[in-house]
Amino acid sequence: MIHTPRTRLAGILALAVLAALAFVSIWTLLPPGPAPASAPADQFSAGRAFQHVQRIGSTVHVAGSPAAANVRDYIQQTLQGYGLQTQIQDAVGEDANDGDQFAMAHVHNVIGVLPGSASTGRVFAVAHYDSVQVSYGGNDDGAGVSSLLETARAMATGPRPRNDTVFVFTDAEEACLCGAEAFVSQDPLAADGGVVLNFESRGSSGPAIMFETSSNNANVVGVYASAVPYPVATSFAVEVYRRLPNDTDFTMYRLTGRFTGLNSAYIDGSPVYHSPEDRPSEMDRGSLQQDGANALALTRGFANADISTMSRPTGHDETYFPVLGTLIRYPGWLVWPFAALAVLAVGALAVVARRRRGVSYRRAAGGFGLALIPLVLSAVAAQLLWLVLVAIRSGYANMIDPWRPGFYRAGVVALVATVVLTWYALLRRRLGGWALAIGALGWLAVLGVLFAAFTPGGSYLAALPALAGAVGGIAALAMPPGRDVWRALPLAVGGAVAVVILAPTVMLFFPALGLATGAAAALFAAMLALAVLPLVESLYPTPESDRSQPALKTDGSDPAPKRRLRTALPALVAGALTIAFVVTGLAVDTFNTVRPAPAQLMYALDADTGKAQWVSIDSSPGSWTRRFVTHAGDVGAVFPVITNSAQVGPAEVANLPAPAAAVTSDTTSGRQRTLSLTVTPRRSVRLVYLEVEDATVTSATVDGRSLPSSALGKHFSVLFHAPPAAGLPVTLVVDATGPVRVRVMDGSDGLTGIPGFTPRPAGVGVEGSHESELVVVAATYQL
Ligand SMILES: [Zn+2]
Repeated sequence: MIHTPRTRLAGILALAVLAALAFVSIWTLLPPGPAPASAPADQFSAGRAFQHVQRIGSTVHVAGSPAAANVRDYIQQTLQGYGLQTQIQDAVGEDANDGDQFAMAHVHNVIGVLPGSASTGRVFAVAHYDSVQVSYGGNDDGAGVSSLLETARAMATGPRPRNDTVFVFTDAEEACLCGAEAFVSQDPLAADGGVVLNFESRGSSGPAIMFETSSNNANVVGVYASAVPYPVATSFAVEVYRRLPNDTDFTMYRLTGRFTGLNSAYIDGSPVYHSPEDRPSEMDRGSLQQDGANALALTRGFANADISTMSRPTGHDETYFPVLGTLIRYPGWLVWPFAALAVLAVGALAVVARRRRGVSYRRAAGGFGLALIPLVLSAVAAQLLWLVLVAIRSGYANMIDPWRPGFYRAGVVALVATVVLTWYALLRRRLGGWALAIGALGWLAVLGVLFAAFTPGGSYLAALPALAGAVGGIAALAMPPGRDVWRALPLAVGGAVAVVILAPTVMLFFPALGLATGAAAALFAAMLALAVLPLVESLYPTPESDRSQPALKTDGSDPAPKRRLRTALPALVAGALTIAFVVTGLAVDTFNTVRPAPAQLMYALDADTGKAQWVSIDSSPGSWTRRFVTHAGDVGAVFPVITNSAQVGPAEVANLPAPAAAVTSDTTSGRQRTLSLTVTPRRSVRLVYLEVEDATVTSATVDGRSLPSSALGKHFSVLFHAPPAAGLPVTLVVDATGPVRVRVMDGSDGLTGIPGFTPRPAGVGVEGSHESELVVVAATYQL
């Protein structure tokens, strides 16, 4: 390409405009400022909601604890104060879907009903009030509970909505989603289904993202798009989330098939997730404002709509994504036409480039082959950067994202720019800028097709930038020669589509998968850079072969070294920025008492063998953890309540009694033995586990609830959270006449007092995990 000073300036100007557009795109995703406690009564106020957060997040309130009962009373009294009809559902919930472990819990859900004036169906606004055993749950799910309490207040003070609105504050979500399961399987209010709106938090900050929907979501997404003041949602998130091992209460509603609905959470600041640092003081009240304002608008929107047809999946899945503060959406059946159009448009660009610029198909094909390199290299480089950071700061090994990731994220973006600009500088002379641009857009089009086939909700991410980039490229090439300076305009318009789609994606992917999986954000950043290559070209000097001037200047000096430096300059600048960002990140993000390095430790005692072990899920334990664990090992076979141990070490035997298993009745008829027993912990515990070792269980009732057939059989086991204080009643029918061996264990929280335990030093904290600080005591009984 030949640059004149004017075309170069136009190109650089266009790049600057696109950079500004990228900032604006990201800016529009950021949470609003918190509304003060004095905000009008019909509006959502983070100032008011935060008072609930402070109350709920003042203590650890794991399911079954007195602190959880205290939170429950507070929720019920608050709802009653707003004039809602309330009740406590006292039930036993189960989770048959969590791998091979069948889990149950004794739960107490708080339910508040705001009756509608002419109900067309029920709207369920859901959040869980329990916390993880080591966490204050200020955000998770103090945010959801407080948002819904403030929502209930605003709705109760305004005109009565059309539909029945049911506020469900579930118990034991962290344990096994058992509160939600008990509600959907046993509460009469849930029998006819309805629309479910679930509110969660997996961090302390960032935009509240609507990340999960029921299937065939056109109708519910439509209400979201028109109702919420701060829409942040993408159909791609639904696809990504389905591939992650995470679950929320929403899963239990979805699995019944009776409910449709939406699931929202804010997810940045993930180091607090499930850890003792998840305190009210760590909450970004802007995130609470966005979460709650959207919750109120959504609940109101559904409460006032005709939802008679909405509680069943109807229509189709939509494609949707945020663009400059609004939600763009179109029906899923357009995914394939757009993907096909993108392929055709890139093909047309190749034809036009051949006619206008003599770019042979061979060269364009070469560009296509070579454009894969920056996509792959960007992702690889982002992962290598994380490995380097972990090597420098070992505490990162047990985190998915650092405490203050901002500079590192900027570093990843600069690293991607370095990769793309280096690749471009090395190849542009040999193949020409257009061949590389066509090849790059070709890959975006191919990705659009691959997404359409495997994750249709994400196809827009690649297909639309490819389509817009190719159309912009065709328009630029079609410009008459005298209008060269205007070539940047269609290129900028085409690039703008890539920017408004991909810049928010990069921004949302960083917290979604963390810097530990920075490859995802890096890949989307690389796609964005590749989509604007024809404008990137204006950063470079005109290649020698394209120049009409003689290679040697008249004074005899050789301009080649100078040009080589100018060719390398963009990549060098990006590389220098990468280093500057990463070094700043390392200086800014240091571990301290408030933001500690996570360390996970458990203690397991087998009363049968009289042996005890320290156990950690950390595969790269830090120096404090290494005082206890000495080598790689997995205790899952001996202590199944510890699901993913990685390191173990010998421990002193603590004076802790194993749970008792006492037979209360025992009858045999034929080959069937019916055995009733009570498993009674002899210390204060959070969970009880029972396993039948050598007989087939054909029927089982635990704490009054009979188990589904999927839970029965040869390797029967049940993990019970929040067991009754008087012991867990179990009735088993087994295919055996002789003695039956059962292994029982219980689990409590807190390692203080265990012999050999030394507290963490300053700067080392408790890792956010459902098993952190767990103390397990096991015994086997012959019954
Ligand atoms: Zn949660």
